[in-house]
Amino acid sequence: MFFFIPLSVHLVTTVDRESSYVAILILLVLTTLSSANPSSHLVLHPRISSLSDEIGLSIILMIGDGMGPEQVELGRLVEKGESGRLNMQSLTWNASATTHSADSAIADSAASATAMATGNKTNNGFVGVNPQGVPLVTIVDIAQSLNKSTGVVTTTSIQHGTPAPFMAHVENRNDYYEISRQIVEDANVDVVLGGGLNDLTSGHFSNLGSQGYTLVYNRTELLNAGLGKLFGIFDYGHLDYEQVRDFEETPSLMEMTNKSLEILSQDPDGFFLIVEGGRIDHAGHANNRVNNALETIAFDNAIGVALDYVQEHENTILLITADHETGGLSVVSNTLNDELPSESNTEEENRALRITRALNVTVDWSSTSHTGLPVPLFCYGSLFESLSQDFLTDNTEVFHIMNDYFMGNPLSPTPMTTTTTTTPLPTTTTTTPTTTTSTTSNPDGVSLPDLNIPVLVGASLLTVGVIVVLYLKRR
Ligand SMILES: [Zn+2]
Repeated sequence: MFFFIPLSVHLVTTVDRESSYVAILILLVLTTLSSANPSSHLVLHPRISSLSDEIGLSIILMIGDGMGPEQVELGRLVEKGESGRLNMQSLTWNASATTHSADSAIADSAASATAMATGNKTNNGFVGVNPQGVPLVTIVDIAQSLNKSTGVVTTTSIQHGTPAPFMAHVENRNDYYEISRQIVEDANVDVVLGGGLNDLTSGHFSNLGSQGYTLVYNRTELLNAGLGKLFGIFDYGHLDYEQVRDFEETPSLMEMTNKSLEILSQDPDGFFLIVEGGRIDHAGHANNRVNNALETIAFDNAIGVALDYVQEHENTILLITADHETGGLSVVSNTLNDELPSESNTEEENRALRITRALNVTVDWSSTSHTGLPVPLFCYGSLFESLSQDFLTDNTEVFHIMNDYFMGNPLSPTPMTTTTTTTPLPTTTTTTPTTTTSTTSNPDGVSLPDLNIPVLVGASLLTVGVIVVLYLKRR
């Protein structure tokens, strides 16, 4: 029930005041009811009751924006050759996920990242809210309610479609002004690294400073930063493509991931970290195979750091996926080119090799936009060992896997069926309190829109009535 406290705070900060007080009242009633009868799963899912037990469980979620299976194949050929494997291809569980949004077969980053952050489908362009605009509880909120540290790392602007739903709630992904405000004032994420200086003000930075963040603006400052809260902005907009990145000035995604893990792993309560390789998508829109390959490889190098970490820390799971595919890429043929990038080379030498190798791969693009192709979902952790491989699921399951893990529940991802739709709004005609959870298509219903207000009010009146009767009887 302690979950309701951060939830209430979250409501006050994200919804207008009057409705937030109503919602807090409802949450208080819920608290009373659930403590009176913990076995009655009134509205919030029963998993909530085990919230406070787990200590130290941690999750790293890595999202390659626009990274479909062929992007992985292109990266593999360029970096490792025909017989090699990328880091992401050496994980415990290989599945794939559908990515459609609430209003389209083809998702955008905001809707897809919202699905992964909250377990709810929403409209394209919507950030951390359902199709009706109601703020949703995110995996970051849940981690914070468990006193875990949190981090968001990206090669795009921090306000962009994929990182934003983990920190903000708005109906328009282009509302960078409001997204920036919420990231700075409300999100309280311990480590934020990426671009986006254009939409941050000196007022934002002094606010962050007063919250105890160390502020860093280049690679050297990042590498030298201590272990406290960290806010790093390395470009005006998105970070440069790997093909032109200044190795001294701008940190790699691997370096940002490494620093984040250094900081977040200090928390004995555990952490949640999301890392985005954000520019694979932009290279896909541009149908640029060199940038596409180099961005996927940079993302995979960051995965290498995460993989090293999870192999040493049994209480941490790693999930790697994409928000959607971009470009309709097919790898058509590959001219053999012997020399592979290697650790003994300089970064410059490896970059030159990768460019040459990428140019030797022939590809077709069928689109300059996103496609509906299911995306890879790779997971690492002993909990995934018993799951069947080549499994088709939906991107909302990414949230449910993470939520189950934090709740200490067995992982049981649901196969993709025909039933995944948007989260139903509260209705006025549902059944009695004890059967409410079975009526929703969102079985892990931690989203606020699932609160069934008439049922709650009815149930609380009933409870009060029973207490009064018992009290009078006793007298
Ligand atoms: Zn895109």
